[in-house]
Amino acid sequence: MQCSCLSCRSCAGSTSQILDLGTSPVANRLLDAPHDSAPLFPLGLVQCQVCGLVQNSTNLPGSLLFDDKYPYFASVSSAVRQHASSLANALAQRLASNTRTLEIGSNDGAVQVALAQHGIKCLGVDPASGPAQVARSAGMQTCIGTFDSKMVDKILTDNPTFDAVHMSNVLAHVGKPNLLLIEAARCLSDDGILMVEVQSWLALARCGGFDMVYHEHHSHFSLSSIAHLFNACGFAITEVETHNMQGGSLRIWARKGTAHAEDILAAIAAEAAQLARAPDQLNAALIRFRRDSERFLAELGSTPLYGYGAAAKTVTLLAASGQHWPLLAIADAAASKFGRYLPLNGIPIIAPTDLPPEGGEMLLFAWNLAGEIAPNYPNWRIHVPVPHLRVLQ
Ligand SMILES: [Zn+2]
Repeated sequence: MQCSCLSCRSCAGSTSQILDLGTSPVANRLLDAPHDSAPLFPLGLVQCQVCGLVQNSTNLPGSLLFDDKYPYFASVSSAVRQHASSLANALAQRLASNTRTLEIGSNDGAVQVALAQHGIKCLGVDPASGPAQVARSAGMQTCIGTFDSKMVDKILTDNPTFDAVHMSNVLAHVGKPNLLLIEAARCLSDDGILMVEVQSWLALARCGGFDMVYHEHHSHFSLSSIAHLFNACGFAITEVETHNMQGGSLRIWARKGTAHAEDILAAIAAEAAQLARAPDQLNAALIRFRRDSERFLAELGSTPLYGYGAAAKTVTLLAASGQHWPLLAIADAAASKFGRYLPLNGIPIIAPTDLPPEGGEMLLFAWNLAGEIAPNYPNWRIHVPVPHLRVLQ
């Protein structure tokens, strides 16, 4: 493996490259006009030789990655809303009534609304003002800004410490996860609960989901790499659950302390063999997709092709394929994306209702939501790209 000079963002250990996807634009920065410029940056993964954390090989500053137009609104997907409801149930089971929680990365308030139904007050924090305003409109108290020491000073001036601090799909998206956890600890009462959901690196490798690698996704955690990070930040893991969200996620419960639970230590030992195989699995999926997409496009010829799901992973997939995809448009359920363009080839994004009613050929980039989306398009021939390019219906 090629050596990299990048040091681990968790433990500062040295890293080596395990995946090279070539170059890609910043995936969530949609264009206002099809020919607007979208600079390309190297995209790939390196792995820490000390704690095993997998992280992006190119670290771009937050100012390049997120802005006021950040287009992700959690509540657009019914699967995400159901997940918010299940998370609220899990928190409610562990908390007394009339407790108060803090959600880092509260987006448009899906989890806050679900917690309110259990009588739990949740203060949200999110840097993206668009989704945060949606949460405020729904009556959810939300601080807009980056969750840093300054923000925490302000929160703790206005509030006592919280009974739980929780975050879903946030830890992987910050440049310094250790600093975020240290600030989270300040906000948490001494016997409070920390809940962190992250996409699972092992599940990603197992399903060949190389499209989940994009610049905004700084880190890919396994149980062992997150346990290493938690220990360094003064948290001990008490429970871990696996979920199907985002192609496979870990829901980790922790408290302030130094010793992970016995069964957590056993689970860490058990994942070692699969961790060793994971880079080869992901590279094999990439090689297969490049080969399959060449054949797919040759067979497609001049038949019109539409896409569904203008997500970050769509950009990675198209960029990594090394092919030019003649997509006429990509439909997406998020109204904030309508009329904008993918930062690759300027592909227009349309409302699902603007897809041709007669159907045709569709590439479903949102393959993790296939069960939710595909039944709505019975007259389309739907292809999914992951775990391998194939006809779904
Ligand atoms: Zn490390």
